[in-house]
Amino acid sequence: MTHDEIRAALSAYFDGQAGLEQAAEITAHVAACRECRDTLDSFKALSAGVKEELAVKAPAGLAGRALARARAGQERRSRVPLALALAFAALVVALLSGIVAKKYMPTMFASVQGMINGAASSLGVSSGNK
Ligand SMILES: [Zn+2]
Repeated sequence: MTHDEIRAALSAYFDGQAGLEQAAEITAHVAACRECRDTLDSFKALSAGVKEELAVKAPAGLAGRALARARAGQERRSRVPLALALAFAALVVALLSGIVAKKYMPTMFASVQGMINGAASSLGVSSGNK
């Protein structure tokens, strides 16, 4: 394999997707070629960085936010009724939208049924609702 071919195959090699023979050839080339070694090192650094980002930063951020929330709750008790009020408001909205859906759904269903029947009769096809 040429240097260019190996450069093109480095990503697959790094992902463990190169064949055994190809991998051996790339390993030998990388040991001798500074440019390919640097490219491979950048893959390793990128991969390690992404793993670190996922493994460390996300849980730390979540834990930090949870901790901050807990502290805010301890320091400002007046926030709790507000949270309850918001939860209650959300519940009311959910119930109302459920009622609205139940109220208007049959009308919508009937008009859709009418459209289907109209389309079917205009095509000269029975819709099966005799
Ligand atoms: Zn090379």
